[in-house]
Amino acid sequence: MFSIEEKWSNWAETFTTPQATIYEPASIDEVCTIVKQAVKQQQTIRAIGAGHSFSGVAKPDQLAVSLTRLRGLVHLNVEKHEATFWAGTHLYEMGPLLEAHGYALANMGDIDVQSLAGATSTGTHGTGITLGSLSSQVVRWGFVDGLGHYREVTRHDPLASSLHIGLGLFGVVVQLTLKVVPVYGLAYESSRMTVAETLHSFQQIVTTNRHAEWYYFPGQQQMQLKCMNAVPYDQLERKPTKALDHFIENRVLQGMSSLCKVMPRATTAVSQISAKAVPIGTRQDVSYRVFATPRQVKFAECEYAIPLHHFEAFLEELHYTMSRELFHVHFPIECRTQRGEAGILSPTQQQDSAFFAFHMYKGMPYKRYFRYMDQLLRKYDGRAHFGKMNRYTRCELERLYTDIDIFLTQRHQCDPNGVFMSEYMRKILI
Ligand SMILES: Cc1cc2nc3c(=O)[nH]c(=O)nc-3n(C[C@H](O)[C@H](O)[C@H](O)COP(=O)(O)OP(=O)(O)OC[C@H]3O[C@@H](n4cnc5c(N)ncnc54)[C@H](O)[C@@H]3O)c2cc1C
Repeated sequence: MFSIEEKWSNWAETFTTPQATIYEPASIDEVCTIVKQAVKQQQTIRAIGAGHSFSGVAKPDQLAVSLTRLRGLVHLNVEKHEATFWAGTHLYEMGPLLEAHGYALANMGDIDVQSLAGATSTGTHGTGITLGSLSSQVVRWGFVDGLGHYREVTRHDPLASSLHIGLGLFGVVVQLTLKVVPVYGLAYESSRMTVAETLHSFQQIVTTNRHAEWYYFPGQQQMQLKCMNAVPYDQLERKPTKALDHFIENRVLQGMSSLCKVMPRATTAVSQISAKAVPIGTRQDVSYRVFATPRQVKFAECEYAIPLHHFEAFLEELHYTMSRELFHVHFPIECRTQRGEAGILSPTQQQDSAFFAFHMYKGMPYKRYFRYMDQLLRKYDGRAHFGKMNRYTRCELERLYTDIDIFLTQRHQCDPNGVFMSEYMRKILI
């Protein structure tokens, strides 16, 4: 069976394993063999995706299994509007595969390099108050459990609400069936709006646009509003973003970030310039090409869901806090929304929610800033995204997730030997 020995590191380089053995199985049988072997040798094994989690959720202790050889569309059920993919498929591969059959994903986040299994194991989400996370689109999981047995679980199974955000703790997910929608285009519009205007019209904008998201520039009045609305596929006037625009955007951000790293006091000026330079414009394309943009500038990130009705109060407090210039930060704060959903570890906990994401350029100190936001968001019932930097402990999980005991019991039933446990997961769960 194919395996490589190498250093493992996540994209943000916040977690590293100096030497890991990474298996790359080419069939479900091979996954079963890897798991059985690990159990026999009393080793632990972590399923890894594209390494795009900022937290240590994907960090292997010694052995890892990557599904890079298990990618692609397995089956499309036209009557049910359901598509089954190998779980190692990257999100950027899914759009064109589905489009060829007249389908699309209902929603996506702002990048598409993640693996399907990785993205759905942490509840990766986009924005849109009528839409759920990628995990909410899953109707069937095919996975190899901790005894090396292949199992299938559907949405109606009691295990589904644990698997919803499973963090790699229940098994190696090998196939996923997702509810898909007829292919559609998106019309994107970027505009400027002040904090006061956002506070006034947030609810109306969120309910009248399929997707809306804001960028708040630390300490600045001016925000960026990005809205995306569906366009029938056959009426699409393709006006894509040019690759050159992405390149320039990333180069400008890289330049400003390098400056802020050597001269942290420049962050205020950089924020002012960024807020004034918010691009105004529109574009149109098939949905998956509008959702995702390339991210070449590295950063660390944490993100929290709060109940939607707290949005205005939190934004006001955030603006007051950031105006005091307590932190040297020039990356804008991203504000999105999501329909509530029922996964046991879902940060939205069945209530429509707003997400606030905080970024810090790689190499600039982020701990004090993230800790402060974590404390501030407690007042607003904030729950952290598991794929992003967080301060979860067992005690915190018990406070925030009422069914955590069910999650842990089911985890133990699926993996009685703890073969999918890792040092990082143990710190949080035990
Ligand atoms: C630049 C950037 C932008 C991002 N944008 C967004 C965004 O818009 N919205 C959002 O919600 N998140 C976003 N994220 C976070 C990211 O989507 C999640 O952390 C996601 O989990 C990463 O997927 P991955 O394939 O890299 O998985 P990894 O990070 O490699 O793994 C994540 C988890 O999935 C588990 N896993 C992976 N494969 C399997 C498998 N086959 N079986 C079982 N478990 C498995 C791992 O064990 C781990 O627990 C972003 C991250 C970055 C770096």
